[in-house]
Amino acid sequence: MIEEGDEIPEDSYLIGGANNLLVSPHPPSLMMLSKDFSTITQEANMLTIGAAMPTGRIVSYARKHDIAGFEFCAKLPGTLGGMLAMNAGVKAYEIFNILHSIKINGRWVLAQDIEHGYRFAKLKGIATHARFEVGHGFSQKLLDDLLALRTNQPHEPSAGSAFKNPEGDYAGRLIEAVGLKGRQQGQMQWSPVHANFLVNLGGGTYEDAKSLIDLAKKEVKNKFGITLKEEIKIL
Ligand SMILES: Cc1cc2nc3c(=O)[nH]c(=O)nc-3n(C[C@H](O)[C@H](O)[C@H](O)COP(=O)(O)OP(=O)(O)OC[C@H]3O[C@@H](n4cnc5c(N)ncnc54)[C@H](O)[C@@H]3O)c2cc1C
Repeated sequence: MIEEGDEIPEDSYLIGGANNLLVSPHPPSLMMLSKDFSTITQEANMLTIGAAMPTGRIVSYARKHDIAGFEFCAKLPGTLGGMLAMNAGVKAYEIFNILHSIKINGRWVLAQDIEHGYRFAKLKGIATHARFEVGHGFSQKLLDDLLALRTNQPHEPSAGSAFKNPEGDYAGRLIEAVGLKGRQQGQMQWSPVHANFLVNLGGGTYEDAKSLIDLAKKEVKNKFGITLKEEIKIL
C-alpha cells in the first residue's frame, strides 16, 4: 500500500480497483494507492481528484455540486487512476476529453502532452492526482441515456470488454461470427448476452479465461484476418 510521501517501488505493478485485470497464478508483486489518494478538492474552477478515488464517488460529487462532464463514469467500475491509464470511456465520452493534467511520479503533466487514444494512455509512471476544469450543469438525462446502453451487459462477474473494438468493427460481433458466443471453458464463458464479455460463472480459473481469449484470437484471425487486441490487462 502506497501512502502519501512514500517512495514508490519500481519493481511492483500498481493496480487500481482491479476491474480491468486478468490475474495469473504468478503475477508480478502488486501495489495499491492508499486512501490518502482518495480525495477531491475544488479551488475556483479547478477540481483536483486523487487517483484512488472510486469513480462512483466522483459521479456523486459531480451530481451534488452540479458539475458537468463526469456523467459517463457512472457504472464504469474502478478508480480514477485506472480510468486515466485506460483512457476509460463510453462511446464518444472519454476521461481525456475532460482532463486538464495528471500528477505522474510527483510532476504535473498537461493532458495534451500525454500520448493517448482509444483505451490507452502512456502515463509512464504512477498517477497520484488529476485536475479537471469545472464545467457547470450535471446532466441526469445524459447519465440515464448512457446507463441505458448498459442493458445489454451481463450481470455475472467480468472485467468488462475483453478485447478492444478493431477499427470499424466490434469485437463482440466478430466473436459471435466465429461461433464463440456462449462458449464455455470450465467456469469461464464468452457471455451469451454480450460476446465480448468473458464472464466467470463461479470458480473460473485464469487458465480457462486465457484459453478462451486465445481461442477467440485464433478463430477471428483465421476467419477475418483481424488481430484482436486485449483491452484487459493480463498479469
Ligand atoms: C462490468 C464492467 C463494465 C465496464 N465497462 C467499461 C466501459 O464502459 N468503458 C471502459 O472504458 N471500461 C469499462 N470497464 C473496465 C474498467 O472499468 C476500466 O478499465 C476502469 O478504468 C478500470 O479501473 P481500475 O481502477 O479497476 O483499474 P485496474 O483494473 O486496477 O487497472 C487498469 C490499468 O490501470 C493502471 N492503473 C491503475 N491505477 C493507476 C495509477 N494510479 N497510475 C497509473 N496506472 C494506473 C493499472 O496498472 C492497469 O494497467 C468495465 C469493467 C467492468 C467489470
